[in-house]
Amino acid sequence: VSSAFSSDSSSGKPSPPVGVELLTPWPHAHLITSSDWDLVTVRTLLKTANHYFQTVFQTGSSSSCNPSDNHSVLTGHSVVNLFYEQSTRTRISFELAAKKLGATVINFEVSTSSVGKGESLEDTLSTLIAMGINAIVVRHASSGTPVLLHRQFGEAIHIINAGDGTHDHPTQGLLDLLTLFNAFELPLGTGTLQGKKVVIVGDILHSRVARSNLYFLNLLGATVHVVAPPALLPKNIEDLGCTAHHHLEKALQDADVVMGLRLQRERQSDQFVASLAEYTHFYGLTQDRLQRFCKPGVFIMHPGPVNRGVEMSSDLIDHPQSLITKQVRYGVAVRMAILSLCLSKPLTKS
Ligand code: ASP
Repeated sequence: VSSAFSSDSSSGKPSPPVGVELLTPWPHAHLITSSDWDLVTVRTLLKTANHYFQTVFQTGSSSSCNPSDNHSVLTGHSVVNLFYEQSTRTRISFELAAKKLGATVINFEVSTSSVGKGESLEDTLSTLIAMGINAIVVRHASSGTPVLLHRQFGEAIHIINAGDGTHDHPTQGLLDLLTLFNAFELPLGTGTLQGKKVVIVGDILHSRVARSNLYFLNLLGATVHVVAPPALLPKNIEDLGCTAHHHLEKALQDADVVMGLRLQRERQSDQFVASLAEYTHFYGLTQDRLQRFCKPGVFIMHPGPVNRGVEMSSDLIDHPQSLITKQVRYGVAVRMAILSLCLSKPLTKS
């Protein structure tokens, strides 16, 4: 085990945070697809994020970063939040994370940019690179956008995927892992989710969160079940490592964790559910349902935004076993870790 968090002032690259040890040198300059990151990488990321969580949030210094803790590793670096889709949590937490690390952050407003004049995403990115921007955090409605951008621009700018279409939302999957490890009090370097049953409920067909979680939960050994109405459950979903159900109550049996998902109505061209009332009747998560079928002490998760009373009842959202607020808090620390680690790695195409 080598302490790889040494500073590298000669290359102008930021140095990752002190206080965490890497098993191998950090391998990634980008975060494009969840499955690009292996177990060792994920454990390092979680440990780094937890370090940030403890030093930035737990010490009560959440309003500012303390340079002596080496949190200002991105001073002199610029990050553009390039969000072509709506976002509250992901955009703000990336902005907060980058600012806590000392970066200059620019939020690209699609509605007031030259996108409205017909400028392509590629030309937009070339423009940002010409200005010397170091990293983009990109969200786009088209699945695969970060992969395409990485192919063309991966040697010129760091690219972080903040959600692409129905495909992937890696930072959500990672923050969900950190939330679960801490909820179950598991060691981040060696612990696994072996023996934990996680049930993901809702619009699996359109959910990038479900796909990212399927990868990361399986990587850490959890047993994953998904449940949705037939029209919202992709036929080959079991190939991604889960058991698929149409009956909620059967799926919830002995669950340790239940993750609710929003109906992605902005991605639904057809009518996938007969009515919201019917969907809630059959698939809505309520305290009564969880108490009857899940393990006592089951944890409740949701990536947000929640449609209260549709996929999840208000009393569950605000329940003491709900991890929803914790997911948001860990999200900032996870994004700090991603930015500091990826920007410390020299740019290459691979
Ligand atoms: N915030 C998550 C996403 O961007 C979940 C959602 O929107 O329902 O995918």
